[in-house]
Amino acid sequence: MVLTEDQKALQETARRFARERLLPDYQKREKIGILDRELISEMGRLGLLGVDLPEEFGGLGADSVTTGLIAEELAYGDFNVSAVPVGISLNAAILMRHAKPEVAREWVPRMTRGEAIVAICLTEPRGGSDASNLQLRARRDGDHYVINGEKTSITFADCADAYLIFARTGQPDEGAKGVSAFFIPGDTPGISRTRFDDLGSIIIGRGSVFFDDVRIPVNHRLGDEGKGFTQVMQGFDYSRALIGLQCCGAAQASLDEAWAYAKEREAFGRPIGQFQGVSFPLSEGESHIAAVRQLCYHTLALRDAAMPHTSEAAMCKWMGPKYAFDVIHQCLLTFGHYGWSKDLPHQQRMRDVSGLEIGDGTAAVMKLIIARGRIGRAAVQY
Ligand SMILES: Cc1cc2nc3c(=O)[nH]c(=O)nc-3n(C[C@H](O)[C@H](O)[C@H](O)COP(=O)(O)OP(=O)(O)OC[C@H]3O[C@@H](n4cnc5c(N)ncnc54)[C@H](O)[C@@H]3O)c2cc1C
Repeated sequence: MVLTEDQKALQETARRFARERLLPDYQKREKIGILDRELISEMGRLGLLGVDLPEEFGGLGADSVTTGLIAEELAYGDFNVSAVPVGISLNAAILMRHAKPEVAREWVPRMTRGEAIVAICLTEPRGGSDASNLQLRARRDGDHYVINGEKTSITFADCADAYLIFARTGQPDEGAKGVSAFFIPGDTPGISRTRFDDLGSIIIGRGSVFFDDVRIPVNHRLGDEGKGFTQVMQGFDYSRALIGLQCCGAAQASLDEAWAYAKEREAFGRPIGQFQGVSFPLSEGESHIAAVRQLCYHTLALRDAAMPHTSEAAMCKWMGPKYAFDVIHQCLLTFGHYGWSKDLPHQQRMRDVSGLEIGDGTAAVMKLIIARGRIGRAAVQY
């Protein structure tokens, strides 16, 4: 894809920030284990958060491709930090489209300034793939809803400033039709949260969020009652392409490091990069990542052109984490015994990208979406 001058300028800003501010401390941040909110504010001041949002909401009015370029560059430096702008673009797009204007006007600028993080709460203890079959209940009580139940496996669970949740307002057997979406500030009474002991993405964390008689005004509902699932879930095509690019950024960092090492490290009297057994797997990795990257750009360009891109987004979402994991693993092996040490970042990148083989929908679910696009919903067995 040929980039415009504006896209190249923003890409360069993100690249410099990622390589100078993020990459050197990627592993140190994991050891500290909490999200550095000052770093997020700094990204806000640099204009790297919500670039796709209108200027009056703190964005730059950029397109989806530019948003993807930034996610990719930031993930080169720190895959986990790059989850913040991806979340902001997804959540703010949902708020701008489906929230009451007063709610969007209060929260979206806070998100683009790096002052507010929003967690998306869909998964429940009984499962995530069959997403519309959820049980968390929102009962109408005058001009409020009263919310009860548990969401689990939620990214940013214990550090979010607000929650975008899906709850059942209709009958239990209504499926997606009886589901509504709500925006809930994190300091609303009745909310409690936990943190899991995870394999990766430690700084952004994952956990459960409990809602115990949480009262939320009716104007915090997103979209129409009973239509939240269908209306709000459409936004996820966007984040799936952005996630693909996050994975490309992380894999590219390991590839660059592995190529540099292959030029220096010697075995049998010559640099190991001269052995095709070393260079060809890395060349294959470059090819896979280049292919996924272009697919993600293409998907985002379809979004910018307001064209359908659900299948393409599902392709980005399963291929991104899978190829990135495999490529980073190959890079780890290129470093021989050093690669097996926690001193090098490849093991952390592998753990971090592997979370998104599950999060935001597994590869199996993405392939069902692609199949549904080809042979229709009725032909695909859920
Ligand atoms: C790192 C991470 C971050 C996450 N962040 C969030 C978040 O922010 N918000 C949120 O709501 N959720 C989040 N999740 C939860 C995630 O969306 C769910 O884990 C995911 O949708 C799968 O649901 P499940 O784990 O309940 O697996 P299940 O639905 O129980 O599925 C178990 C296995 O069966 C397979 N399977 C299920 N149905 C089918 C089928 N029809 N055909 C073929 N295979 C099938 C699945 O692919 C999976 O391998 C996150 C998960 C992870 C790991």
